[in-house]
This record gives sequence, C-alpha cells and structure tokens, in this order.
Amino acid sequence: MAVAGGERRGEGPPFHSGYTCNRCYLCPAQLKHRGVWRYHGDMAKLGLAGLLVLGLCVQRHEGAAYSYMKNGQQDWNLNEYKYTTYHPMSEISMWMEQVVKENPGLVSSEVYGKTFEGKNITLLKIGLQSGSKKKAVWMDCGIHAREWIAPAFCQWFVKEILRTYETDEHLNLMLKNVDIYVTPVLNVDGYEVSLANLNGLLAFQTRLWRKTRSKFQNAECDCYGTDLNRNFYANWGTVGISEDCCSQIYCGPRPLSEVEAQAVTDFVGSRSADILCFLTIHSYGQLILVPYGHPQIAAPNYDELVKKEERERERKGERMRVGLAAAEAIKSVHGMNYTVGTSPDVLYPNSGSSRDWARLWGIPFSFTFELRDKGEHGFELPEDQIQPACEEAYAGAHSIIRYVHDKEFGITTTTSVPITTPSAATATVALWTTILACSLTAATIL
Ligand SMILES: [Zn+2]
Repeated sequence: MAVAGGERRGEGPPFHSGYTCNRCYLCPAQLKHRGVWRYHGDMAKLGLAGLLVLGLCVQRHEGAAYSYMKNGQQDWNLNEYKYTTYHPMSEISMWMEQVVKENPGLVSSEVYGKTFEGKNITLLKIGLQSGSKKKAVWMDCGIHAREWIAPAFCQWFVKEILRTYETDEHLNLMLKNVDIYVTPVLNVDGYEVSLANLNGLLAFQTRLWRKTRSKFQNAECDCYGTDLNRNFYANWGTVGISEDCCSQIYCGPRPLSEVEAQAVTDFVGSRSADILCFLTIHSYGQLILVPYGHPQIAAPNYDELVKKEERERERKGERMRVGLAAAEAIKSVHGMNYTVGTSPDVLYPNSGSSRDWARLWGIPFSFTFELRDKGEHGFELPEDQIQPACEEAYAGAHSIIRYVHDKEFGITTTTSVPITTPSAATATVALWTTILACSLTAATIL
C-alpha cells in the first residue's frame, strides 16, 4: 500500500555521513576512492579508540546534509546539496524530502514498497497540474548496488528538471502532459552495503556488492542476495542467470521472489497503460539496451506476440531509431560514444530484467542505460566524472522522453525526431557488435 513519504526523518546514526581523509593511512576507512579514504559506516561501531584515530585524520565533508544531520536542523536548502559526490542513502532520503518541500505543486513522493530489510523504497513524482488525465514516464536507478553513478544520475536528472522547467517551454509542456516517476535508489539494502562498513574495522571490502540482501528461510545456501535484474517475470531463469545463490547473477528461487522487484511490478504494472516509456539506469559500458535480453524471445504470451510480429518489427526499428537518437544526443555533449542494441547483440543474453518485463507488459519504449565508463574505472567511477557523465546521460534521457511525449501528443515541431533510417540503424548495430566483441569481457556483469 502506498503511504506518504518522509518516514525516514530521524532514522539512522546521527553522524552517518561522509568523512574523507587525504593524509592519514591509519584511518579506519573501508573505501578507497581515487586515493581518498572515506568512511561511510556507523560511527557508533567504531568505539572510542576508533573515533580518536578518525578524529586525528579526517576532513569533514562540506555538505548541507551533514550539517542538517549534525544539528538536527531543517534550514538547509537544495542549493547547498552537492550533486558531484556520491551520497549515502540517509542523505539521498533527506534530499528527496527537501525536493518535495521546496517544490510543492511540482514534486511529491511516495513510498511504494519495502526492501527485504524493511526500508522504504521511495519515488519522486514530478509533474504539473493538468485538467486532463496524464501519461507517465518511469525511471529507476540503483537496481545494482555498486553502480553508484546511477543514483547520482537520478538526482542530477531531477535537479535539471527543477532548474529548467520554468524557462524551457517544451519541458513545461511535457510536465503538464506527463508525470515522471523517479526512483533514485531501488536496491536500498544493497546500496547501503556497498557504501558501508558491514562488520566493523576488520570488514572485508563491500564496495562491489551488487545484489539485494535477501536470505530465505530453508535455503540450503549461506549467501545473501539475488540479482534484482534477473528476478523479474520475463523469461525468468532461462539465459544469463545462475541458480547458485552465491552467484552475482543468481535469479532467485522464483520470479519476483524479491520484494523490490515485486514493488516495481505492482506500481508500474497497475499503470502500464499510461506509461509511455520505462528507463532503468545502470553502469557501466556506455550502452543503450533495447528489449529483449533473450536471443529467441519466448514470452508467456508468445502466440500473441507471433501474430503481432510484423507490427513488432516496425516498433523494434522505431525503438532502435529512438535509441540511436539518444546516443547522438549523448555524444553531442562531451563526445562520448554510446552503443545501441539488444543485450545479446551488444553485451550478453540475459533474462528476468526489468527492461524486458516492462516491454512484455506492453510499455512501448523500454531502455536500459549503461552509463560511463567502458571499464577503466568500471563501477568505481571517480567523482570528478559524475558531472560530465550525468550531463550527457541527461541529454540522452531527455531525447527519449521528448520523443515519446511528442509522439503521444501529436507534436511535430520537435527537433528530436530521429533521423537515422532503419537500415542505417541495423548497420550501426552490426558494426558495434563487432567492435564490442573485442572490448567487453564475458566476466563483466553489469
Ligand atoms: Zn547493472
């Protein structure tokens, strides 16, 4: 059941914030990032000695969220929020509250599910009041815990809309026709593990945690977590998965065994007729993936799909064109190349992804973004790349949203209509397939 947001106020340890240390290698830090040690754990677990060591060498983050937490005050504003750093969940939650507070009539929040550990899964709904029934766009970030640039992007995306919607006439029109649902962090449990110190000072490195944190009774395996992006009801358990619960790509004991996947399925599924496009944000690889992840699609409604084969082929061409237009928009910002195609063509086959589920459920446009980079830093993208990565990804997402909006509402004056022909699109995919075969290793699970 949906309840009002804001329940996280006051939760969490009061000093669970970012501390950086540039000069002392005795710091009880768990995360090394570009030569900077950072402690994101629970201060209460450190003990007196740990606090003394930390106190000798840390430099406190300059951040509004920190002072908010420290002083228990609510007098900070969004202008003080730093979008070019990676934030722990507690700060992202406060950021969401502040976005709602400072933008009444434009942004509201909704808790639409609970994680395995009982934490809120919260989205922001962005849209202007309209007399008529509105369409919607979906975006989720942070389905895989270690892909930190994704939650950073969702925050950037919201910030950019707030910054420009009053002066950008077309964006203003879109927000009157469409509500945009943004989930900054879907896999909250996993994200906190990736950012935190699990077991005190001697904890093993948890930075690269990917999965949820579920553990099922009667399970014969001791490992935690399921790959959320293998757990949706879309050819579940067929290709690109593992049945070993210790695997990074464990698909779970059954489809939708994960409450996080169930929450998205319930929320989006009940509104699917109105949702124009479904965007799910990951890293890394600089890809825009279109359905499907299964090389020979075998959906529950397979017969029906076969009858619609021809129409589907047309749509597939359209999705490719829309994806290629987004890649062009991305390239125009900082010159970065993004590859467009199906997962089997440009990455690897998989099943049970949210992107495929959304498409099977009838949402016409469904894309996975794999943000920067191409493997140099991988999941540990340095903070100095947050801004350019988000700037270009915003252009790509905006291109897609603009296209689906203009198509739905019959607007023809847009400059975002893709110009690439289907045949050129096919040729491009074939080219990139060849190039990528050389650059991506099978061991990289994104
Ligand atoms: Zn991912």
